[in-house]
Formats: sequence, C-alpha cells, structure tokens
Amino acid sequence: MNGKKNLASFANKRYGQNFLKNDLIIKQIIQAIPNDNLVVAEIGPGLGDLTKELIVARNVSAFEVDKRLCEHLNTTFSDPICQGTLTIHCGDVLERWGDKTLLDEDYHLVANLPYYIATNIILKALKDTRCQSVLVMVQKEVAKKFSAQAGEKAFSGLSVLTQSVGYGELLFDVGAENFVPPPKVTSSILLIRKKRSEDNKGFEDFLKVAFKQPRKKLSKNLATHYRKDTIEALFLQLEIKDNLRPHEAETSIYHHLYNELNKDNIDEREKNS
Ligand code: SAM
Repeated sequence: MNGKKNLASFANKRYGQNFLKNDLIIKQIIQAIPNDNLVVAEIGPGLGDLTKELIVARNVSAFEVDKRLCEHLNTTFSDPICQGTLTIHCGDVLERWGDKTLLDEDYHLVANLPYYIATNIILKALKDTRCQSVLVMVQKEVAKKFSAQAGEKAFSGLSVLTQSVGYGELLFDVGAENFVPPPKVTSSILLIRKKRSEDNKGFEDFLKVAFKQPRKKLSKNLATHYRKDTIEALFLQLEIKDNLRPHEAETSIYHHLYNELNKDNIDEREKNS
C-alpha cells in the first residue's frame, strides 16, 4: 500500500493520471457493465483499483502506457495473470489498436479514461466491430456530447455518430474530490450500448462540415462545402426547414443528407466547378 501511495503522489500529468479513490463509485461502475460473460478491455488500469473489482467476475485485458504502473500491476496481480484471467499489455493503446480490432473476441470497454485521448478512444471503440459497449469515465462535457439527444444544446457530431451505432447515456457525475490528484473538471460516467459498428470517414467529415459553426444554420454550414443551390434543393426535397440549426436535426436527417449528397458524388469539386 505504501508503494501505491507513492505512485499516486507522483501521478504523471502527461498521461492524464487521476486515480479514482472512491470504492462506491467503482462498485457503481461494475454494476453498470452489461450483464453477460464477455471479456472486459480496460484502458489505463493505473494503480489497479478498478481492475481489482473487474477481475472478480470477468476476464480482463488491460492496456497501460506507464512502465512504472505496468510493473506495479504485474506484481499486484501476479496470481490472476498466472491463472490467465488478467492480461496486462504495456504500451500505448492507440498504437496497439491501429486500424485493427483491439481484441480478437467480442468485449466491453470499461475505463476511467485519460482525458487527453478520451474522445479518440471512444470513436475508435464505436468503429471496432468487436466492441459491444463503452462504459467510461470522461470529462462531463465530453459525456454530454456523446449522449445528447437532438434538440439539446450539447447535440453534436459525436452524438450523431453514437446514435448511428447505438444508444448513449450519461449515467452519473463524479466530482473532482473522488480522485487523486483531483482533476480541474467534473467527470461523468458514459455508457454507450452498441447495436452495430460503423467506420465511415466520409460521414465523419460530413458531420464536421455540418457542425462547423454550431450556432449557424445547418444549410449555411453545408453551403461552405457544397453548392448553395444543391443544398437548397435538397432541403426542399427532404422537407427540412431552412432555418434548422445543426443541434436541432435528428440523426436520420444527417444520414439522408449524406446519402443524397453522395449519390451523385456531389462534393467540393462541384462547388468549385
Ligand atoms: N484506472 C485508474 C483509476 O481509475 O484510478 C487510472 C485512470 S487514469 C485517469 C488514466 C490511466 O490511463 C493512467 O493509468 C494512464 O497512465 C493511462 N494511460 C494514459 N495514456 C495511455 C495510453 N495512450 N495507453 C494506455 N494507457 C494510457
């Protein structure tokens, strides 16, 4: 335990290390994991507080970048590692993930994510065909962006991507006082239950254009990339109000618009022709 205290006081900011120290919250996270026998992928096990509870009922594959923490985890969890119920992968999870699936079997992602790469990790999990759900602690603002419904202020391109593959929910908030060291922001637990996976760079780029200036009209944002008359005709055809703001449009509208714009290969080149 002394070693653990030392590691906590030497938390490395570079790796987004804020260790969760509230057992009750750890229990609430465990209870929110979908009820089946799938393996859990944990990103950033840190000092192993969440890992310790995860391995009670699950097989776990954990990915930790910090060598000091990997050594600590290998010592603390030598028994489950020997028994094959826990695997620790030491290294950068994003490098390891690449364009492949993170694991070779279906899994649930459970993690108190390092905030500097949280959005990136969730987006990768949405695309990963092996990932069945995402249960993560992230900055509250990020959780809201992934889980908002159309019409809410926080509805964003990330909400549309979530709704395109499943359903996102902000479960509860976690105050900074529950971490060592405390982060500067409030955190939230986000759960995304996936029904499918989708890896469509074209659609992601289209959403970036659609939400470029979130307070402007959707048609205005789209007209920065596509011909204005094409957008006007499409809005008429799909019976979309011209003054609709990006956060007010349902996910299905984005899919209709994207499909129509891609049908005839209408893109920036057309605008410039
Ligand atoms: N799970 C622990 C907990 O709840 O106390 C630690 C969570 S801490 C917010 C984030 C963890 O992710 C740290 O252990 C950090 O070293 C690790 N981490 C940061 N960047 C990483 C990366 N690229 N790949 C794998 N782990 C990473």
